[in-house]
Amino acid sequence: GLAVPTAIMVGTGLGAQKGILIKDAESLEIAHKVNTIIFDKTGTLTNGKPEVTDILSFGKMKEKDVLKIGASIEKGSEHSLAESIVKKADEEKLDLKSVVKFKAIVGQGVEGEIDKKKVYFGNRRLMDQHKISLSLYLEKIEKLENEGKTVMMLVLDKELVGIIAVADTIKDSSRDGIKALEKKGIEVVMITGDNKRTAKAIALQLGIKRVLAEVLPDQKEAEVKKIQLEGKIVAMVGDGINDAPALVAADIGIAMGTGTDVAIEAAGITLINKDLNS
Ligand code: ADP
Ligand code: MG
Repeated sequence: GLAVPTAIMVGTGLGAQKGILIKDAESLEIAHKVNTIIFDKTGTLTNGKPEVTDILSFGKMKEKDVLKIGASIEKGSEHSLAESIVKKADEEKLDLKSVVKFKAIVGQGVEGEIDKKKVYFGNRRLMDQHKISLSLYLEKIEKLENEGKTVMMLVLDKELVGIIAVADTIKDSSRDGIKALEKKGIEVVMITGDNKRTAKAIALQLGIKRVLAEVLPDQKEAEVKKIQLEGKIVAMVGDGINDAPALVAADIGIAMGTGTDVAIEAAGITLINKDLNS
């Protein structure tokens, strides 16, 4: 009768020493059966601190104005993409414009009004929604995406006036961590709300073959369940609020200690350090 509690105590104790906090003993029991691990991209495999790398302007717009309007509209968003753009505008000492009717659109971008003009800023899905044609600039957009960058399009009164691309750095530990898992015969999957090309480019750098991209926040959970239906025992690793339902749905939910409280709350295991090798 003492064997199980003793084993759990020793196990969780050793885990804690290595920066692995095991909240429920069930996770500890299932861990060795896991044969598929799904990693969220942003903030889990990457550092989650994107930086602006490219600014393009079209027509009469200047690059500086693209950044200025982009940062103004993003000021109201808490997304890490938004932070990177506002930070860049701060560095360039740009005065931001005031925004009315601001709205964040989950998994797509933001919208609002600046100087009485309707502004949309976000990804391809947002452009599709408003029937903004990208055909003139598609080559430029795809080139940036193939470099693993996240591309955001800026629209002023239905006209595409510019593009801002940001890049996130891959954690040093991601490659080794993934290799170690594959060596054990565990399948590694990457899941992200980011677009397919960008996701593929990052996955290629990491040696991940199975990629689920353009997954809206409320669909991550369903994707986990789909893989479970293939008969797999699934661990999900994530950091964001949008990962929480997927962390609960997975056989084991693992949160990054650097992540949001909601993710940590939803997970059975938390990695205190952000090291993928843990
Ligand atoms: P994830 O955290 O998995 O990358 P999100 O659902 O938060 O996914 O975002 C998915 C995509 O939606 C982003 O890659 C971006 O293209 C777009 N997006 C979300 N929020 C914003 C924002 N504030 N500004 C611009 N684009 C955004
Ligand atoms: Mg994330």
